[in-house]
Amino acid sequence: MPASTHKTLKIDGSTGEGGGQIVRSALTLSMLTGTPIQVRRIRAGRAKSGLMRQHLMCVQAAQTICNAEVSGAALGSDAFSFTPQAVRAGDYHFDIGSAGSTSLVLQTILPALLFADSRVVDSQDVENKKSDASSTVTIIGGTHNPLAPTTDFLQHAFVPLLAKLGMQVEIECVQAGFAPIGGGVIKARITPFLRRAGMPRFELTERGALQSIVLCASVLNLDYSICTRELTSIKASLLEADIDEALMSTQSKRLDGIGEGNTCFAIVTHQLGDKNEAKATAKTSTKTNTHQEVFSLLGEKRSSAENIGKRLAGHIRRYLYDTDALIDEYLTDQLLLPLALAGGGTFTARMISEHSKTQAWLIEQFLPVAITFDAIDDEQILVRITC
Ligand code: ATP
Repeated sequence: MPASTHKTLKIDGSTGEGGGQIVRSALTLSMLTGTPIQVRRIRAGRAKSGLMRQHLMCVQAAQTICNAEVSGAALGSDAFSFTPQAVRAGDYHFDIGSAGSTSLVLQTILPALLFADSRVVDSQDVENKKSDASSTVTIIGGTHNPLAPTTDFLQHAFVPLLAKLGMQVEIECVQAGFAPIGGGVIKARITPFLRRAGMPRFELTERGALQSIVLCASVLNLDYSICTRELTSIKASLLEADIDEALMSTQSKRLDGIGEGNTCFAIVTHQLGDKNEAKATAKTSTKTNTHQEVFSLLGEKRSSAENIGKRLAGHIRRYLYDTDALIDEYLTDQLLLPLALAGGGTFTARMISEHSKTQAWLIEQFLPVAITFDAIDDEQILVRITC
């Protein structure tokens, strides 16, 4: 896919939500389609505009995996251009150099690596014999950042959704990293994506019964009792809301890493409704008969463990009781791109954030897809991606 055959796409980074997501998704889509891009007015409306360390790392990581020609990318830049070449599978290491989100860097290059060319075995291999085109990616930085998916979210919500699309990714949290020190390490193994004939069309529209709520709390070099207090508080709030205790379980652990931090999260699993379940079981494993959402919070100095627990329970209750939609706010914007790449499908969303609208707009700049958001009733939205 010689990049020179494509016309450069100019992207205004202040469009819609106007944040780092435009930079990341533009890079991903540029690599996937071979389209050179010029991104300007980067994060123009933010207090500190331009490329922050995490965004710069995304540009550099993308450059590394496809040997792109890049100009103008530096800390604080408000514009850069990026001309990709073919993406190569490989073993990659990136160090953000701050507590910037490793998840967001990974999400930038992951879709491109799913579709990467096989690597050449070695320089002797003049016939370009293909070896395993799997990639491993190690990223150093923050694993638990506010306003970004935590590693737990990736492992328990994002990766299972990718698996439903036939995209095989494993993510390990080797070491945890919280702001301001960072030093966390995640490792991902990405298997090349092959769309299998006969895969049922992706449809996550109907909630079945609530299957389980796993409540987890962890500390990094902080008092272990924080976990117990958070879990007790979440559980009490959920019981108050008449959620069946038999469906709840708790887990707590000490994380490895430098610095300090605390996180609590809930994995909420629903069975799929009859319509969706019939499709899922037709051709795939039983694991796809459920949907998992993850709600997470980070401990804060000014907030008690009890208060964090109560707030997390509030997020769970809102998801369980406010609507019948399957997919919550964050997974909605994160699912759009993989779903468009996998051939489209439909799902019900609790809400459509500015992130989701902006993401849909950007995807449509690069790919021949239509993304629609239609209100089903006052409470849920049907998201449809047609290719
Ligand atoms: P900026 O600093 O410009 O706002 P950013 O690079 O930090 O940009 P955003 O563009 O705001 O990031 O994108 C944040 C991403 O993190 C979105 O995809 C959003 O779904 C996700 N996200 C935010 N909070 C959570 C959360 N609690 N759980 C899971 N995902 C989250």
